[in-house]
Amino acid sequence: MTALRLKNLVKRFSDLQIIHGVDLTIQPREFTVFVGPSGCGKSTLLRMIAGLEEISDGDLYIGDQRMNDVPPAKRGIAMVFQSYALYPHMSVYKNLAFGLETAGMPKDEIATRVQKAAEILQIVPLLQRKPKALSGGQRQRVAIGRAIVREPQIFLFDEPLSNLDAELRVQMRVEIAKLHRELGVTSIYVTHDQVEAMTMADKIVVLRAGRIEQVGSPLDLYNRPANKFVAGFIGSPK
Ligand code: ADP
Ligand code: MG
Repeated sequence: MTALRLKNLVKRFSDLQIIHGVDLTIQPREFTVFVGPSGCGKSTLLRMIAGLEEISDGDLYIGDQRMNDVPPAKRGIAMVFQSYALYPHMSVYKNLAFGLETAGMPKDEIATRVQKAAEILQIVPLLQRKPKALSGGQRQRVAIGRAIVREPQIFLFDEPLSNLDAELRVQMRVEIAKLHRELGVTSIYVTHDQVEAMTMADKIVVLRAGRIEQVGSPLDLYNRPANKFVAGFIGSPK
């Protein structure tokens, strides 16, 4: 069974069309990267998959279930954003626990999940700190931890590393790829950074102005770009 299927997805904001009929199939455990210039619709597409943005037309399937009208919390998806959006007045522990508490999960199960996520991300010593006492990289780990505690099947990342410095970005890329493999999840990762796309992806989806230009492995795109735009973006002359 496929993990995710997008069938002719369309997004309009009033009469302005932003996403123009996107078709895409994603297999379980695949690491898919959406890449394309700023404003091409990467975040909008991700938000439609997450259920944070209504689908104007077309169908979205997760597994064999049509998800168009299913609320975000019931899609088995967790999203990690660029702005960490941590609650400043809460400890790291509370930041990780809060969503689960709101969902009514028993305290001991929350404690188990938070501990497990904190171990995976190596932030156990930070659990009692407030976000302002964390470095950028530590904050980003907490943001990822908030996704992990929900134990989703699908992770969506929207440019999660763009606020970090170059060195940390490289380190976090490796960590996210490792996490993806170890958790056995399906991930979609949005970036406008070609290097990130080339080094992290099983499959790259190149977007331009709300349409898919090409889908393929990093090697496919590098060796056989479909057009000048893809070639320019991936960095191989055609
Ligand atoms: P990306 O993430 O690739 O930079 P976005 O998905 O954020 O692009 O935006 C794609 C296009 O949709 C942009 O032109 C943006 O201005 C427009 N857009 C995004 N959200 C809205 C909205 N709520 N209302 C109107 N236009 C929007
Ligand atoms: Mg964006």
